[in-house]
Amino acid sequence: MFWDPKIEKLSREKLEKLQLERLKKTLQYVFSRSPFYKKRFTEKKFRPSMVKSLDGLARVPFTYIDDLRKNYPYGLLAVDKSETVRLHTSSGTTGKPKAIFFTRDDIGRGADLIARCLVMTGVTKKDVLQNMMSYGLFTGGLVMHYGAEKVGALVIPAGIGNTDRQLMLMQDFGTTSIHITPSYALYIADVFEKKGLDPRKELKLKRAYMGAEPHSEETRRKIESAFGIDVYNSYGLSEMNGPGVAFECQYKDGMHLWEDHFIMEIIDPVTGRQLPPGQEGELVLTTLCRVGMPILRYRTKDITRIITAPCRCGRTHRRIARITGRSDDMFIIKGVNIFPQQIERVLMGIKGVARNYLIQLESYDELIVKVEIQKRSFDGSVDHMAGLKAEIEGKLRAELLVRPKIELHEPGSLPVSEGKAKRVIDNRKL
Ligand code: ADP
Ligand code: ZN
Repeated sequence: MFWDPKIEKLSREKLEKLQLERLKKTLQYVFSRSPFYKKRFTEKKFRPSMVKSLDGLARVPFTYIDDLRKNYPYGLLAVDKSETVRLHTSSGTTGKPKAIFFTRDDIGRGADLIARCLVMTGVTKKDVLQNMMSYGLFTGGLVMHYGAEKVGALVIPAGIGNTDRQLMLMQDFGTTSIHITPSYALYIADVFEKKGLDPRKELKLKRAYMGAEPHSEETRRKIESAFGIDVYNSYGLSEMNGPGVAFECQYKDGMHLWEDHFIMEIIDPVTGRQLPPGQEGELVLTTLCRVGMPILRYRTKDITRIITAPCRCGRTHRRIARITGRSDDMFIIKGVNIFPQQIERVLMGIKGVARNYLIQLESYDELIVKVEIQKRSFDGSVDHMAGLKAEIEGKLRAELLVRPKIELHEPGSLPVSEGKAKRVIDNRKL
């Protein structure tokens, strides 16, 4: 199903023409309206008229997370403060917040993108969507909420936490769709298990939208089978509206990134050069429709690649692959680059491993992985535990090329964070 078939199926040629038109307009607009870009363009001797084709985008200076922090709060605003109607900040997983402002029309456009995403995965006005993301400064709450209302679904603004109430709401109102972080979904699956209940029988759930944190295909499968549902990957960031930037369609093979609203590039994070389509690198995004706070060539630090093959669903907007990590998540042990997600992928593929884990960095050559294992294994024989530990160690070593120290823990004993999961504890001294 399509929310806006004309634009979702627009030919590549027309889509690129539209991108170029909107890019040129945005460049002129920020140069005349945003104090930050006026200064940045002048310093870099860049003029909007220098961009004559989409390739010309490579000449536009980058915008970094630090630019948002240093120009906090109003430096990137392109309208008078009185035109803004909402403020969001990033969830702050990586330091000080970044303030993002929306005009009324920005809010409407954000909701429209969410509507495309939900309809693409089968949501109709008959659905009940329970939004289990935090309803605060974080965009996962309100931005998703407005989009789901636009489709006409019944939205339950449950927020995150208070799991017993979440379960009650799901049961009493026949929730069909949830919007949730992977770590909270795993936690809820655990709660069902502890209560001896089978969510596949207790709930009317059909689908979950999972985003806000990197997670692996193995985690998706684990959640799909625990709840008996389809799980769709949802990518977004506050700087680009929040959720609704890129989303999986029914084929669950990469996320369509809405190219009439954003231009995507994949660059080499070290040299800053664009990489050929299909190669993995850092995702860089440019807003094409934002009025309150347009952002150009934003360095997301998220690592992915563009899937160039057309999708069977008929949408022409290209897809990005599952995010494999953030360039600043990477840590180095014994000279080897490691992304936390590599560890997750291995753990979630091992039978006997439960749903929570923690990575602890003690020094530049010591990596501790704390793993919750299933009750059955935890209560099993000493030999069984030793076997599981050896299996985890062996598989992680094969993936990482570094031998980690493994600690096995009882299910439910490792800390669970509200909101975004914190998987890496870094105790190293600089
Ligand atoms: P913060 O930077 O404080 O975490 P946001 O709440 O805006 O702020 O989070 C956006 C980030 O969350 C993205 O840049 C990305 O790293 C991560 N993220 C969001 N959705 C996904 C997803 N589906 N898969 C992997 N990572 C994601
Ligand atoms: Zn598709």
